Amino acid sequence: MPQLGRIKNVVVRTVVVPLRRAVIADIGKFDHWPLILTDIELDNDVVGISYIAPYRAKAMASIVAEIRDIIGQLSGCSAPFDAVQVAQKALNVIGVSGVSTLATAAIDMALWDAVAKQAGLPLVCLLGGSVGPVRAYNSNGLWRHSVDTLGEEAKELLTEGGFTALKLRLGNEHLEQDLAAINAVREAVGDHVDIMVDFNQALGLGDAIRRCCDLDDQGLYWIEEPILYNNLIGYAELAKRVSTPIQMGENFYGERDLMNFVRANATQYVMPDLMRIGGITGWIRTSGLASAAGIQMSNHLYPEISAHLLRATPTAHWLEYVDWASPILSKPLEPRNGQLSPLNEPGIGIAWNESAIAKYSVAV
Ligand SMILES: [Mg+2]
Repeated sequence: MPQLGRIKNVVVRTVVVPLRRAVIADIGKFDHWPLILTDIELDNDVVGISYIAPYRAKAMASIVAEIRDIIGQLSGCSAPFDAVQVAQKALNVIGVSGVSTLATAAIDMALWDAVAKQAGLPLVCLLGGSVGPVRAYNSNGLWRHSVDTLGEEAKELLTEGGFTALKLRLGNEHLEQDLAAINAVREAVGDHVDIMVDFNQALGLGDAIRRCCDLDDQGLYWIEEPILYNNLIGYAELAKRVSTPIQMGENFYGERDLMNFVRANATQYVMPDLMRIGGITGWIRTSGLASAAGIQMSNHLYPEISAHLLRATPTAHWLEYVDWASPILSKPLEPRNGQLSPLNEPGIGIAWNESAIAKYSVAV
């Protein structure tokens, strides 16, 4: 009877890679992107790998320490569900969200990669789905830079893979500035391109109600995170008063956060982030809940892994495409006709470019 291998060795590395276009939003400006790479080697020589992107390079030291702490408590166990149970029980005393969840997600995804490789299947097939295309939007630009540059960039973004949908970041001080940004993009791309907009939690509730209602006639596909992510009552108010569907969920820490938003009718769409939702195990649990609630679910970042998961998500909606981890991947995704297909190889969809990792390596 085949069995899962046991954890023999773990290597955690940190890199900082350049971004092709700087991220400029209400949460900050980033022209480089820190990544934590986790390799878990099993005693049958299978190596499961994962990456997480914690935004702040200086935060990597604490997350890496937590990854090592959790690994030490697993006693060699490589089954993702069991590992998550152990981690959640152990970390309960210091808080189950935040760094605890980020570290757990890094391990969970590497273990799922190992399970899929041992089964000889792409993750999507292991979960009962099939390899195939997922509808995607290009999220690689349209940050809050000068309105004069938005139109040209929007055209570039469409041609980077035949996209028909883009995400524009808003949350400027005045309504007129947000309208100017929307108009610049709309004039450049025409009427048949879907425009999602993201406020990155820029507004207070009162201002958000006013701003979102003022934008309701702009034909926007969704309005993302207008207010602080954990303002449940505020989101319920927005979802009731704004006609354009509300999108949020990239800051959900585990499936119970979605449960709370479902119970409060506080959002129309959700887009969990693999690092914060609790890895692949957290995604599976959340997607079941989204399915039961009839809420359409997209991803936040991690397109290589999310492409597998969206093919196994009953209410799958849009894949958010970014290429921010591509510098250290040997087989980055290639968008075609506005779609992405998960890598058709055993595992969760990533493989390292070791020479690039050496080039971008940083100590923490
Ligand atoms: Mg967002």
